[in-house]
Amino acid sequence: MALTPLLRGYDQVILDLDGCVWIGPEPIPGSVDAISAIRDAGVRLAFVTNNSWYSAEDQVAKLWGMGVQASLADVVTVGGAMQHLLAETRQGRTAFVIGSESMFRHVQDAGLRVLNGTDLASRAEVVVVAASLELTYDDLKNAGLAARRNGDLLATGRDPTYPMPDGYWPGTGALLAAVEAASGRTAAIVGKPEPQLFLTALDRLGEGRTLVIGDRLDSDVLGASRAHLDAALVLTGDTSAEEAAAAKKPTPVAVGANLAELVLGKE
Ligand SMILES: [Mg+2]
Repeated sequence: MALTPLLRGYDQVILDLDGCVWIGPEPIPGSVDAISAIRDAGVRLAFVTNNSWYSAEDQVAKLWGMGVQASLADVVTVGGAMQHLLAETRQGRTAFVIGSESMFRHVQDAGLRVLNGTDLASRAEVVVVAASLELTYDDLKNAGLAARRNGDLLATGRDPTYPMPDGYWPGTGALLAAVEAASGRTAAIVGKPEPQLFLTALDRLGEGRTLVIGDRLDSDVLGASRAHLDAALVLTGDTSAEEAAAAKKPTPVAVGANLAELVLGKE
């Protein structure tokens, strides 16, 4: 299948997962064919995700389950970026974590001591906020006390919502807003729209004309701009056609109803 003129202008693509390739457990129709066409044309491809719930291994398994071959090196997750940052700058410190099992592992593997569940939880030196389905008042209290006391608050992202088949679920940004309100502190962000995920993906892909494809203006398009990359927007995730039309700078170089339309053109 031939690529659109848009895609023929690039050597490599950095593709967001949630809202572009799939919605929750469901692949977005046409996305798997679009990915095959990108690869068949010799365009290099990396996947990036602000999703901090799943590990890179989980994302690779999910891609294979949908018929997309991928290796760990193809997937750049915000959890991996958080681990890298913590290992470089905060090894040996104590941490309180709001997040999934995968995020707890990333923090421990970075060389920090996790204080969740101990009497010292509210005194942790570093507070890490990521996606959680089990946030309790006690978590909010400990994260708020520790962040207020020590001022070292990190989060994977500010995406307020997460696209799921039945609508928009509260995202990490919604949880983070509660911790910031409780602590009076502002978090440093590791994921999009900070450029780090895109820079890590570029590091793996190499030099070349690069297009970012994502479903959010405030994380994908803005983050691409901060990494000095072009971005195209799809409307299958967190952005409506009205919001795309009203976008202020940085604006996407193209908007498609879905990934298949951007990559292969209209049916
Ligand atoms: Mg997305």
